[in-house]
Amino acid sequence: ASFDELPIKTDVIENLKNCGYKEPTAIQKQAIPIMLQGRQLLACAPTGSGKTAAFLVPIIHSLDGPQKQGFRALILCPTRELAKQTQRECVRISEGRGFRIHIISKIGKALTQYGPKSSQKFDILVTTPQRLCYLLKQEPPALSLNNIQWIVVDEADKLFELGVHSFREQLQQILQACSHQHRKIAMFSATYTPVVAKWCCHNMKGLIRVTV
Ligand code: AMP
Repeated sequence: ASFDELPIKTDVIENLKNCGYKEPTAIQKQAIPIMLQGRQLLACAPTGSGKTAAFLVPIIHSLDGPQKQGFRALILCPTRELAKQTQRECVRISEGRGFRIHIISKIGKALTQYGPKSSQKFDILVTTPQRLCYLLKQEPPALSLNNIQWIVVDEADKLFELGVHSFREQLQQILQACSHQHRKIAMFSATYTPVVAKWCCHNMKGLIRVTV
């Protein structure tokens, strides 16, 4: 099977080929069509299985070019390092689309540079929950998430491990800020954990699970 067999825009397929990706990995074959249908997803896929492209491809395919609507996709990563890697892959796969991808790394800088209005300049946000929650707690909040259509939680097992309760609270705060009526969640986890599965069952309507 090649990427051409998936219903993805040709420019995105071209970018994947330029990344050296000839054919989709197992998780990409499963997750991409589900997210393209707009279904919420819990995917268990080990690190190194190509999970980053599995969630980036359907998001990049589905978002229309840059619009001044503010952030439309949010990707939550457990560490800054992973956020940086994810942002780099997002830049490569969305080449030519003109998306503005923002990574929140330094809190101080983000606060002075971006207010609710300036977050209109971006389309995709990659960050860690800690940093995002810090910005959301400002009065008024330092950024707006009310146009987010996709929320991806990457390495959910790690995030839920980092103090089960604190991540849960952060996630609730983030979901409250993501008030778009068609907001959807894609949860990616390296391992199957009951804590993650339970949270998904309670919070994600019409959930589809895949495991590779
Ligand atoms: P990830 O699981 O997202 O961390 O990806 C692991 C590695 O696989 C990364 O170096 C990716 O660049 C690479 N990769 C992702 N998708 C593909 C693919 N379809 N074909 C070949 N390599 C890939």
